[in-house]
Parts: sequence; structure tokens; C-alpha cells
Amino acid sequence: MAICWCMITILFLMVTVRPENDDVTNGYLRFASGNKGFKVALFADLHFGENAWSDWGPDHDLSSIKVMSTVLDVERPDFVVYLGDLVTANNFMVQNASLYWDQAISPTRARNIPWASLFGNHDDAPFEWPIEWFSSSGIPQIVCPSTSASGGDECAFEGTTRLELMRDEIRRNSLSYTRFGPRNLWPSVSNYVLTVVSPKSDHNTPVMFMYFLDSGGGSSPGVISAIQAEWFRNKSQEMNPDSSIQEIVFWHIPSKAYEKVAKEATAGQTQCVGSMFEEGVAAQDAEMGMMKLIKERPSVKAIFVGHNHGLDWCCPYEKMWLCYARHTGYGGYGTWARGARILEITDEPFSLKSWIRMENGTLHSEVVLSN
Ligand SMILES: [Zn+2]
Repeated sequence: MAICWCMITILFLMVTVRPENDDVTNGYLRFASGNKGFKVALFADLHFGENAWSDWGPDHDLSSIKVMSTVLDVERPDFVVYLGDLVTANNFMVQNASLYWDQAISPTRARNIPWASLFGNHDDAPFEWPIEWFSSSGIPQIVCPSTSASGGDECAFEGTTRLELMRDEIRRNSLSYTRFGPRNLWPSVSNYVLTVVSPKSDHNTPVMFMYFLDSGGGSSPGVISAIQAEWFRNKSQEMNPDSSIQEIVFWHIPSKAYEKVAKEATAGQTQCVGSMFEEGVAAQDAEMGMMKLIKERPSVKAIFVGHNHGLDWCCPYEKMWLCYARHTGYGGYGTWARGARILEITDEPFSLKSWIRMENGTLHSEVVLSN
């Protein structure tokens, strides 16, 4: 009898759980049945956990949850990309930054929408003691979350590493498509590929590949390393050898090419869409070969970055587009209105469209990135 129940349980688990898990394991993203488009929302620079010792920090986190909730309810995306700086780790008194990371992904998880995340420069940084705390006003009263087995108030100031954050996200969430990149790419971690598959086929025919890269910063230089570029070259060759499938790429800190494009836009030669001049491009520390490889691949249609909170432009560059997301979080510098970049992919014929959805529900900067 016990064996029988055991078998029934196993069969039940196979029937109810396995199809979803297979797609997560294989990195396959599917169009919702009957939908012509596959929609992705990009949430950038949420900066959860900022100034956790004051009132405005936690208030801002609640406001950021509201922004994400509005965008998710209006757009109803099939997938969400967290484009880095989910948390402001250099503001954490607690060692376990996953507490805040978990809050940042909660609106998406609550709606049963799958997601993937990559790292920004603020996600993995040690605590920076504010200089004001050493003036006569002193250290504010800090409430430390209970994180230890002893149950007592305990603050730690070490920060949580990329690896720990990622391990926690993956372990706790069946809807997370985030994955560990290859070990030889460390200290960069969030390097992986996901595949949007055709809605019309049972055979997992790819419609588009989405590459995710860790552009560093925080505890390491803000660059995409030569070895990451090499990984991209090998991976794209393996998955899409004749460049017949369209590809898009996500990372956090804009590459130097963004500076070049912005300069040309200042000179007036431009077909750019979106906010261009609110601030200067804060680019990666160096270019180690990634952009050269991307330029050589006609299948790469667009790159999407965050990091600059005042910019949300898309500009043509060579045969593709360079795009910013839109600052989604109330955390982080700047008071520009919050929103999110949306992508919509269609199949047969292929097209990639994008626009910005704002917190107040308005829409702007529509652009066709490929068709
Ligand atoms: Zn940021």
C-alpha cells in the first residue's frame, strides 16, 4: 500500500510539476497560448534596501513595488527582466541582502510571472559607512533584522556576494530563470542565455535568443571581460552558428559605444527615441572586445542597459540599436518619473517592438527595433 501511494505521488508530481521545470531547466520561454506576441518588462535600478535606517528608504521600496505592480497589471507581460541594481548593497547593515532582493522580485512572483535577473554595480558591494554617522549627530538608531539562529538583533556589514544572492534567488523560486554562469567567468556571475521558442511548434524552434551578461562593478571593475566576450562568441556560435535567429543582449552598465552614440546625437545626427540629455552616459571602465564581437553578428538587434537613471533612449548603432531601460525604482539617485521599458516579440513575421510604460499609466517612445 505504501509503495502504491508513493507511486501515485511520484506520478502526480511528474504530471503537475515537470513541464514547467523542464522549460526553466532548458531556458525556454513560451508565448502564452493564443497570443501573437511575447512581452517582456524590464525593471531597472530598483535599489531596494537603500537607507534602511531612515523612513524614506523603506517608503521608497513601497513606492517601487507600486511602480512594478502598475506596470505588470497594465502590460501583463509574459516575462520580466531585472536589469541590475535590484538592491543598494552598500547601504545594508545586514549580511543577508537576499531579504531585500526578495522584496524586489515579489510583485512579479505574486502574479506568477517568470523572470530572470542580472547584476548591477550596487548589488554586490560592501557596506559604506556614511560620514554623517561620525559627526555629533552620531549613528541613528538601527533596527537589525533577526538573521541568526540565536534570534537576537544582529547587524553585519560585510555585504552579500553575487554568488550568495543568486543561489538564494534560484533556490527559493521555481519561476526564476536566473542561472549561474560558467565558473571560469568569475567574478562575473549572471552570464547565460534564454530562448524564446516558437508558439507554433512542438519542437522548441527558437524565435529569439536573449543573452544576459554581468557587467561588473561594486566589488570588481565595471567591465565585460575578454573572457566573457569569448564565452559570448562560443555560445552564440554554438546556438546560432549561421546567425539566422534574432538575438538581443542585456547587461547593466552601458558600454563605451553608448558614449559615442550620445555624442553624435548632441551633434544632431540622430534617429534616437527617448530621453537623451538629462545626464551624461556613465559607461563601463573599459572595452574588452564584447562590442566588436556583437557588431560582427548581424543577428544581434539590440542591447539593453540600465545604470543611468535619467536616460531612456534607444539609438541606432551600426546595424542594431543601443537602448536604455527606464529607471523603475524610487531608490537610487534622481527624481525622474519612474517606469519600465517593454519589449514585444512577434513570430512569423518576426518583429521586435519597444516602448516605455510610465507609473501613471502613460506610454511613450514607441520604436520598432527589428522586423
Ligand atoms: Zn542604479
